[in-house]
Amino acid sequence: MTTNLYDLAPEQIEAALGEVVSPPFRVRQIIEWLHERGVGSFEAMSNLPKELRAQLAERFTVAFPEVVERTPPAADGSRKYLFTRGDGNRIESVYMPMPTSERTSVCLSSQAGCAVGCTFCVTGFFGAGRNLTPSEMLGQFFTIQHEHAVPHERMNVVFMGMGEPLLNFENLAATLDVLYTTVAPKRITVSTSGIIPGIDALAKLERRPNLAISINAPDQKRRSEIMPITAKYPLPELIAALKRYPGAITVEYVLLAGWNDAPHDAVALARLIRGLRAKVNAIPFNADPNLPPWMKRPTDAAIDHFVDTLVRNGVAVTVRRSKGREIAAACGQLRGKDVATGRAARPR
Ligand code: SAH
Ligand code: SF4
Repeated sequence: MTTNLYDLAPEQIEAALGEVVSPPFRVRQIIEWLHERGVGSFEAMSNLPKELRAQLAERFTVAFPEVVERTPPAADGSRKYLFTRGDGNRIESVYMPMPTSERTSVCLSSQAGCAVGCTFCVTGFFGAGRNLTPSEMLGQFFTIQHEHAVPHERMNVVFMGMGEPLLNFENLAATLDVLYTTVAPKRITVSTSGIIPGIDALAKLERRPNLAISINAPDQKRRSEIMPITAKYPLPELIAALKRYPGAITVEYVLLAGWNDAPHDAVALARLIRGLRAKVNAIPFNADPNLPPWMKRPTDAAIDHFVDTLVRNGVAVTVRRSKGREIAAACGQLRGKDVATGRAARPR
């Protein structure tokens, strides 16, 4: 198989190109085309001689996954993208223009499924899928950016699609390095279910993204019920790891009616995260036929009460009023639905 240059770090690209391209400025031009412009072909590299483009195309690829479906824009402008790589795996991303600002967010998937198995999550329901490569993660980003002609300085990137990014650490780190060419680390957020070694590894990187941590319950016992990963990485140790993380932290909290949405749960959550200097993103549960029927979205009144209680306990809160709900594409609600049959595709 020919090497996809989007799967290589700049030094590796230099080494690989060395056989074909001699002047260093040409190598720099090619890296610019890739990492700044995100082109999907050698043909598009218009300042390279035609013969060189042909030679490169013989030896390497610069391929992205192919878009197989785009949902029509929802009322808030968000759209879901479905990509494939020809191996049957489906990769989903979401384009989310921000109504209240000039900014645009793209929500990327890091794996074609998820082995963590949180019981409230559709991706978890369908089970493990393979790690996505840097070219597959970058392909989601550049494809959506190009289609909507979003200037670099307006892009926010969130790794909140399918998969657990910290269980695909090396590919994530390589992807971040390329994204940093055009998007500042503070504009990138990696969301995790709480993989402690991954959090510590991210903390050691020279440039670090913001971290979002899916806490979802205010105590160890309840968290274990919906997030089996809690047995491996217990909540007190997770909080300690978050305290070590030298960057901004958002606590995500999926609100389940009658289960973790009472005012006393808000008080317990405030206590749990005291000392983290984190803001909370409350996410009202999104129901799905594949998820346990007891799981329900709280009423708006209950959501407001929960949020008010957090605020009164000194916690900054935002509520994700399910952007993209109309198209069943809320970030974190992705599954890899088979377009042809309408059946959900189980990742292999
Ligand atoms: N694996 C990572 C990132 C992907 S999940 C993580 O768990 O953080 C992204 C977010 O979607 C998580 O905060 C998760 O708690 C949330 N989520 C998953 N299923 C959901 C559902 N049914 N309703 C609301 N939020 C959900
Ligand atoms: Fe995986 Fe995140 Fe879904 Fe849990 S919430 S199953 S970690 S994608």
